[in-house]
Amino acid sequence: MRLARFNEGRIGVIEGNEIADITGPAGCDPVAWPPVGMVSLIGRHGDDPDAIAEMVRSAPRLPLAEVRLDCPIDWPNKVVAFPANYDAHIAEQRRTKVGLISTFDAAGQGFFLKSNSSLSGPEDPIILPPIEGREIHHECEMAIIIGRGGRGITRAEAYDHIFGYACLVDVVVRGREERVMRKSYDSFCPLGPTIVTADEIADPNDLDLRLTVNGDVRQEANTHDLKVDIPGMVEMASAVMTLFPGDVIATGTPAGVGPIQPGDRLVSSVSGLGELALEVLAGDLGAHPVWNKPEN
Ligand code: MN
Repeated sequence: MRLARFNEGRIGVIEGNEIADITGPAGCDPVAWPPVGMVSLIGRHGDDPDAIAEMVRSAPRLPLAEVRLDCPIDWPNKVVAFPANYDAHIAEQRRTKVGLISTFDAAGQGFFLKSNSSLSGPEDPIILPPIEGREIHHECEMAIIIGRGGRGITRAEAYDHIFGYACLVDVVVRGREERVMRKSYDSFCPLGPTIVTADEIADPNDLDLRLTVNGDVRQEANTHDLKVDIPGMVEMASAVMTLFPGDVIATGTPAGVGPIQPGDRLVSSVSGLGELALEVLAGDLGAHPVWNKPEN
């Protein structure tokens, strides 16, 4: 099942070229704030996709081409993100940091958080802040969407807590400033285009990732090369924090990260999860003196 948010907060299930509107039976008020309808749906029915399928059977349908898809989860409790989690990317980061001998990787360093407000949808542009002399990079990632929450989840239990998967782009200002600041600009976490439920993904440890900028392939990898694998990430995050339904885990980027510029068109895909095709625009907001020094 492919779940989406659309037309400013409605909830739907995409089937073929139609979207079934389950906003009502899902108990979601599309104009309510905060916009937690999808989180609430996953919380109530994440363990029981049949209940969602039952909502779909009697739902009104709209042509998919006539709706605007929103970020599938607008207000999760948190966005967990794993850093360097593929060997080839770790090697390229070492090469670019001259003189810095790094043993930095997800297995040794753990995870970080991106701000929830950096989330954006499949039809939203990435808006770059006006920062002189800094590179802003794309990172092509697969996202895990938590279903049943929990703390201290073991590897053996991990898949029982996963609701689904999505494409995610982790956008980042390169530099040595605090990572949360560099990765948390509005629109720096495109997610979607939908949430694909876990039952549709035969082996999440064998998914092809691909990211192009203006048609040029920048990143190509497969999730079987993850250093901390999917159960390992659920185990590590839940060792520290209670995971809640709808929490997003960005699983880390493979090699090939690089700068994006206003006017670029970025396409990020994961096999079985669809693609995010995103415009990159120049924004007016986001300058701050903290950036007024060379990247170091
Ligand atoms: Mn990343």
